[in-house]
Amino acid sequence: MVYEITPNKCAEHLSGAVKFATLSKDHEADTDWTPFFGLHDYILKTYPLIAEKLDHEVVGKAGLLFHWKGTGKSKALPVYMMAHMDVVPEGDWGKWTYPPYEGVIADGHVWGRGASDCKAQMIAQLEAVEHLLSEGYQPDYDIYMAYCYNEEVAGGDSLSSAQAMADHLTAKGVKCGITLDEGGGMRAGSAMEAEGRICSIAVGEKGYVDFEIYRLDEGGHSSTPHHGGALDYVAEAIIAIRDHQLPYRITPAVKARFEALAPVMKDKELGRLFSDIEGNWNELLPIIDKDPKLAAYFHTTLVPTMAQGSQQGNILPEKASVGVNSRLLQGDTVESITEYLKSIIPEGMEVIPHKGHNPTPCGDVENDAAQLLYSLCKERYGEDITLVPDVMLGGTDSKFLYGLSDNVYRFGPFFNTKGESTRAHQVNENMDCETLAGGAEFMIDFIKKYGK
Ligand SMILES: [Zn+2]
Repeated sequence: MVYEITPNKCAEHLSGAVKFATLSKDHEADTDWTPFFGLHDYILKTYPLIAEKLDHEVVGKAGLLFHWKGTGKSKALPVYMMAHMDVVPEGDWGKWTYPPYEGVIADGHVWGRGASDCKAQMIAQLEAVEHLLSEGYQPDYDIYMAYCYNEEVAGGDSLSSAQAMADHLTAKGVKCGITLDEGGGMRAGSAMEAEGRICSIAVGEKGYVDFEIYRLDEGGHSSTPHHGGALDYVAEAIIAIRDHQLPYRITPAVKARFEALAPVMKDKELGRLFSDIEGNWNELLPIIDKDPKLAAYFHTTLVPTMAQGSQQGNILPEKASVGVNSRLLQGDTVESITEYLKSIIPEGMEVIPHKGHNPTPCGDVENDAAQLLYSLCKERYGEDITLVPDVMLGGTDSKFLYGLSDNVYRFGPFFNTKGESTRAHQVNENMDCETLAGGAEFMIDFIKKYGK
């Protein structure tokens, strides 16, 4: 019997997945693994053909990796589809219309933490594969489905689950033709200050570092203060960072992003300028500088986010520190930014890069795999869609996949034509049932056409 894709069934299955409170923790030892393994069992029970016909194994602490062996008739490299099982904390329960871990289905939506980020993507992939198996379909190439467990804390104090999966496959000599993760996707142009509809395929992402900058001091009683205490240094460092932001520059990937968007930008004058970024750079600079959302694409950002002195009002601090978060543009590295900070802050202060990683390489969308995603979007939603190779300012698990594939893409299969927000990371996170089923159908098309 053919396993049909319907909004109701997809919603039921997503609802079941939301019921597992798969929270990842910064300190991995604090993680409760029971919901993760509960979710594994749930997936295997909900998708009996996948459980029967695909190999599966647990990678790392609780990563779930499926392998669908193809006929091998196609020369195409394997497809690597992924999603993360873990979720961010639910926040204030009182503010949720429906409880965050009951997976209530109401008003055509599934409600709850993880409903959109990122269990919907996982369910859409599983629905697609279960359907294809029920038709007796077998791809001519291999498919991997990887469900990770610590994306929301970027690995926390342990190895990233996505990295563990990639290492596991690389060690077996696996190289994939495309990796698909959350991030881009079909969207209304308005989401990018543009007209029409956009197919966004994110080809890279900025790096991330949390720096600690500090100054040690002898401390003392606040009734007899000395000048130049530890906090004075911190204050000077903060001002230095404000006054010495890194210069704006154009990377090839960011140039490609803006030149693709330029013809459909709502602001026609801005579109004209961005159609030739280099030629119009001097005119663009003041515009970029005034708009933090634009500026972030054109330089490595540095921003103080946490500062600390002593524990009490009458104690001079023995240590004062400021936490500085940085998002690294392609071309900079954790080391180069550490050196840069040292060069601008007062002497006698230390700079420690805590958690961090370099920016990813950036691919392009000129190859068959990306063009297939684009053509599937046009088939489904109409010809009038602009393809935008994007660079993400935030991070995803995809940053760990560059050893596994040359075509690392962040592209979700969903398009909510009603323009609703899924409220990821907020209260009342939700997933529209029809959009969910549309995502499963998109994945079926993709699997059938890839490698042809
Ligand atoms: Zn996510």
